[in-house]
Order: sequence, then C-alpha cells, then structure tokens
Amino acid sequence: MKFKSAKINAFRTWGLLLTMLGMGLMILGTAGIVFWGSAGKVVAAIGLVIGLVSMIASLAIYFWAGMLSTSAVQVECPECHKLTKMLGKTDRCMFCHTILTMDPAQATVTAEQLEGQQLKH
Ligand SMILES: [Zn+2]
Repeated sequence: MKFKSAKINAFRTWGLLLTMLGMGLMILGTAGIVFWGSAGKVVAAIGLVIGLVSMIASLAIYFWAGMLSTSAVQVECPECHKLTKMLGKTDRCMFCHTILTMDPAQATVTAEQLEGQQLKH
C-alpha cells in the first residue's frame, strides 16, 4: 500500500484507524449480547479480545510514531516553506506532500533550482 503522505502522518492515520476499529469491535461485541442474548456472548468475547488487541496495537503505533518524531529531522519545505519533519532520507512534506530527500543522488531538483523555478513564475 502506498500512502501519499508524510511517514509520521501515515503512522498517525494507522493508529487512529486501529483505535476506531478496536472501539467499533468492542461496541459491536457488546451489542451482540443485546441482540442475540447468550449466543451473543461468544461474539462479544471475541469482539472484546480483538478490540482490545487492536487498541493496544494502536497505542504501540502511537508510541512508536512519537519516538520516531523525536528523531525526525526538522526541515523547511522548499515548496511551501513550512517546517516539516522528515523520517529517513526520503519523506513527503506534511503539508503539500512534496517528496523531499536528503540524498543528493536521489534528488531530481535541488532547493536552489526550485527557488529559481518559483522566481520565474
Ligand atoms: Zn511542503
């Protein structure tokens, strides 16, 4: 799967999705008891366990994203001039999703060239 967003934002999105999924499963599980009575208890138990696991997983992802963002490099995006955080050598800008790279070998446009392009417009 390919996300058109900064890595930190992608982690946050996944964390949020997992939290929602976990909460949804727990609510559905509990609703199962109401709708199906004793038969629903099995559904509820499974729902609660899976819900809890995905909640814990989302917490772990959030924690990981937090750890990663402390080690991320803060740079000024050459495209939108906002301060963004980069993970690794290549990442996308959090605001305009421009691909940024620290590796000169992978860069197609340097910051100076981009400045020149913008001045021409
Ligand atoms: Zn940007």
